[in-house]
Amino acid sequence: FGNPRRCVRFVLWRFLDSLVTSVPSVVMVVATWLLVQPIVHPGAALDFVALWACVAVLAAQVLASYATSHKVYVLSCAGTADAVLDARLAMGEKLRRLPLGFYQRHDAGDIDSVLLRDYETVENYGAEVLSQAGMIAAKTTLSAVVLAFFDWRLALATFAVVPCALPFLWKGFNAMAQSSGRLTKASQECSSRTIEYVAGIRTLKAFNLAGTRFDSLRASFEELRKASLGKEEASRPVGVFGRALLLAGAGVVMLAGCALLQAQAVHPFVLLMFLLLALGIYEPIVTLFYFLSDFGNADAAGKRIERLLAEPELPEPPAEAPAAPHGHGIAFDDVSFSYGGDERALEHVSLTIPEGGLTALVGPSGSGKSTVAKLAARFWDPQAGTVTLGGADLARRAADDVLAGTSVVFQDVYLFDGTIEENVLAGRPDATPEEVRRAAHVARLDEVAARLEQGWDTPVGEGGCRLSGGERQRVAIARALLKDSPIVLFDEATAALDAENEAAIVEAMHELARDRTVIAIAHRLSTIAAADQIAVLEKGCITQQGTHGDLVKVPGRYRSFWRERQQAAGWRLASEQ
Ligand code: ADP
Repeated sequence: FGNPRRCVRFVLWRFLDSLVTSVPSVVMVVATWLLVQPIVHPGAALDFVALWACVAVLAAQVLASYATSHKVYVLSCAGTADAVLDARLAMGEKLRRLPLGFYQRHDAGDIDSVLLRDYETVENYGAEVLSQAGMIAAKTTLSAVVLAFFDWRLALATFAVVPCALPFLWKGFNAMAQSSGRLTKASQECSSRTIEYVAGIRTLKAFNLAGTRFDSLRASFEELRKASLGKEEASRPVGVFGRALLLAGAGVVMLAGCALLQAQAVHPFVLLMFLLLALGIYEPIVTLFYFLSDFGNADAAGKRIERLLAEPELPEPPAEAPAAPHGHGIAFDDVSFSYGGDERALEHVSLTIPEGGLTALVGPSGSGKSTVAKLAARFWDPQAGTVTLGGADLARRAADDVLAGTSVVFQDVYLFDGTIEENVLAGRPDATPEEVRRAAHVARLDEVAARLEQGWDTPVGEGGCRLSGGERQRVAIARALLKDSPIVLFDEATAALDAENEAAIVEAMHELARDRTVIAIAHRLSTIAAADQIAVLEKGCITQQGTHGDLVKVPGRYRSFWRERQQAAGWRLASEQ
């Protein structure tokens, strides 16, 4: 999590705890040895002092184990959880600093899976798996030393199978690690598809696509099932062979033991002790490899976290204060912009958007209207040319400052799962209830609240799903009015609104434009006709610019657009009669 030293203390304590936990096994070996002494060496007396010492060591171990386990528990619960919390918060901070454009390129499911699952995987591996593996390694080494102390030849026989089995275990678990990459990818895909399916269910149902989309969700679940099975199958043949080879170690001990017994080079009790203890050594080694195979998973999760942390942020202005803007007029000077591919979304756009007025952007879908609005709020920086606000280059101002002075009323505006009032208050959390009511009144949101049973306290539902499109925009307008920012970006709903919503929104928007710089991505004739300035965009270029009066007089894109729209509106009115 960018601070590996935080883990050192935990891993060291875990290792100490493992050693303390291993003490009873060692004491048992020693005690067994002491108890068999009178049989191995007839006439020798039982060493009671040593046996009582074993009891004392066991008693001390209980206390020591309590202390070390408690410390490990505290460190793992508090320490690791704190480390992960800090790391997640740092990621949250990073996500906040990323340009808004980043979110248009990335799936919510991918980000969600990094924040929740990848951190958990790395946490689990770093804190638990790695230290458990260390514990097994410590116990095995300690057992080897103790066994060698009693009979080095039998100890050698006990561990002889380990180097033979290791390559198979390694290969088996490596295959498992590799296929776990597929599993992670499949489970990420599942979560993305699920989020997409649930978030878009209303649209999917409306267009009768729920079945088609469910097919892609079903396919991702199917792939998840295959990937889970694949992980097990990948490791089975070699891994199982390696495990069998390792467990054959007991036979090797028996073989070596019998040979030594026949040569009278070892006492039967020593062999018995080895047979009893040796078997317990192999299973943890298999577990150790199982843990190590998780490395690929944790490594991939760590890399995904690092990749997200390395996402480029918009450059922040240098330490010396950037030129303060004079006023809130916006100017595009020969701006070209592309979203990353070869195609340019904007080409050599020059446009002056004066303050205190409404500038309407008009043009076919995909002509670059939203891109102009988003560059004005520094969602991105242009690759060529400059965007200035009050004469100061936007690229030299902190993105947060620019956003602080801008309100966004987009058609896909996001409402939080709170009440109407809370959603308006998000515009300026320290606003008084009177200010909230006033903003809501101008946006004609009070009419909406009055109609609803719970009034202002009506929950809007996740994303505002309990309100209509027009009502959602009224909430967004009220929010923008409350924020009272000098710049407002307004994206009119393309869908036809009912007459009441349309009248309310047009009225509220004019109120907004009175003393602010408003850039509207306009679709409705009433908005366009009332604009102080209209810019017509086609294929990323501004082809016409002026007031409605000027533009309808000259032949061109705007005039034909206006006529088409008027005819469409006439048709709508006629069909409504
Ligand atoms: P409009 O608002 O006029 O419909 P946009 O400004 O949204 O047009 O889009 C202009 C061009 O940029 C289109 O060709 C569109 O496909 C492309 N575009 C828009 N947003 C993105 C994005 N996030 N990533 C890549 N291309 C985009």
